[in-house]
Amino acid sequence: MIDDRKKMSCAAFQAQLPELIGSGADAASHPHIQSCELCRALLADLETIAEAARQLLPIVEPPDELWEHIESAIKKESSGAGPDLTEPVPST
Ligand SMILES: [Zn+2]
Repeated sequence: MIDDRKKMSCAAFQAQLPELIGSGADAASHPHIQSCELCRALLADLETIAEAARQLLPIVEPPDELWEHIESAIKKESSGAGPDLTEPVPST
């Protein structure tokens, strides 16, 4: 039902996303974003994270490492395996 013959897959787009944003391109105007609600939401998330990172770090440009962190965070999120919050509770 989905006519995506001329569109790239979400996976392919998301692989390019950090590069797109990192290069200063207007990712929001990308054809895939225009047609994919999922990736639009993802882009919004990424921009929120990037914005937060800019405010946290006293640097102008986020290092490549930052995108690796974001990427792995996305992968964790999309695989359904969230951060392990089961910290050992000291039993006294
Ligand atoms: Zn998509």
